[in-house]
Amino acid sequence: MNPPITDLDQIRALAAQQHDAFEVMRYMLEADDDLDDAQLDAWVEAVAKPIAAAIDCTRCANCCRSLDVYLTETDAQRLAEGVHIPLDHIMTRYIDRDSAAEVEEWGKFRARPCAFLDDKLCSVYAHRPESCRMYPAFTPDFRWTLADTIEGASLCPIIYNVLAALVNQVDEIVKSSLS
Ligand code: SF4
Ligand code: SF4
Repeated sequence: MNPPITDLDQIRALAAQQHDAFEVMRYMLEADDDLDDAQLDAWVEAVAKPIAAAIDCTRCANCCRSLDVYLTETDAQRLAEGVHIPLDHIMTRYIDRDSAAEVEEWGKFRARPCAFLDDKLCSVYAHRPESCRMYPAFTPDFRWTLADTIEGASLCPIIYNVLAALVNQVDEIVKSSLS
């Protein structure tokens, strides 16, 4: 495996260049009725795992700077207990319930970049919301969430490098589903 590309300017430019190729991959996978979802997800995870392991998120933190972070009531309680700040203070100062409700979520961090980001490190790492722990997720249902994943390729080096690797192998996986 070549070393993954991590420069954020380069990632943004390459993601724009490759956008059509990523979309072609999505059309191919969505049209392939012979390809089992579990088989496809296993292939994606096998490609994604070494790439994610080779990228140091503590030198990036672009997701913490760029994305809206949604959280659950359980996330808020865990955060309040972890940082020893009363829950009502966490709610008032850090969490926006109204704009989260507009997209049927429980809460959203008010600040972007995230208020808990300290340079490129999460200052509440052990107590961070579940959505932070899961990001970036490729599975389950890689095929049916690929449109959203493609949108993340310009900001996340893990996503870009994984999609670029998958594009190079998609013909092979589609052919294997026919055999
Ligand atoms: S809570 Fe931590 S991991 Fe989540 S967005 Fe904020 S800084 Fe990033
Ligand atoms: S998940 Fe992606 S955007 Fe977030 S820190 Fe890691 S490489 Fe950067």
